[in-house]
Amino acid sequence: MSLEEIKSRIAKAETDAGRSKGSVTLIAVSKKQRDERVEEVLIAGHRCFGENRVQEAAGKWPDFRQRFDGVDLHIIGPLQTNKARQAMELADAIHSVDRPKLATTIARLAQELGQCPDLFIQVNTGEEDQKAGVLPTDADGFIRDCRDLDLPVKGLMCIPPVTEDASLHFAHLARIAERNGVAGLSMGMSGDFEKAISHGATHVRVGSAIFGERAY
Ligand SMILES: *Cc1c(COP(=O)(O)O)cnc(C)c1O
Repeated sequence: MSLEEIKSRIAKAETDAGRSKGSVTLIAVSKKQRDERVEEVLIAGHRCFGENRVQEAAGKWPDFRQRFDGVDLHIIGPLQTNKARQAMELADAIHSVDRPKLATTIARLAQELGQCPDLFIQVNTGEEDQKAGVLPTDADGFIRDCRDLDLPVKGLMCIPPVTEDASLHFAHLARIAERNGVAGLSMGMSGDFEKAISHGATHVRVGSAIFGERAY
């Protein structure tokens, strides 16, 4: 599938959901893709990308940024506290704020650096042990604590369990966002981004449907 096809499917999903054109941001997830494929998507004019590892992002994006203007880079994977500074210096958004220690670290670094990326709080809507994110019952309190730290909470993020209907999780995340007055919803991947858009996604994170299978 191509970038153009994904963009037109997003546009159709926006229309079908009665949402305005361009209300959904496509984050092209370039993790573990060959540089040539990423470059093709940059040449096609796309500028918003997602990486799940800081190390990998730091290895390729400074170079791409030298050659392409206006890159908007999102860190979407679990973030270790000791990588927070590097992530904040590199990225325009972090989608994986998921615990108090990380929030306080980001708040301290934001003071020091005089800048902070847009932040999304990850919610573990499926309450899965292996998955990052605050539990749904802790979400309201954590959002409040982040705001008390003056963090720019732009949205919530979730990754539904693979074995369940993603719609329930998208709807749940949307409810948590709504009751907390959070505008952004980072949800939906290659297999379910249209469903996510129908539930109000503002950011979809699409990798393999754009780039093909990842090279592990
Ligand atoms: C890899 C990844 C994606 C993209 O997954 P695809 O199925 O390739 O679209 C989205 N979100 C996160 C957090 C990821 O790690």
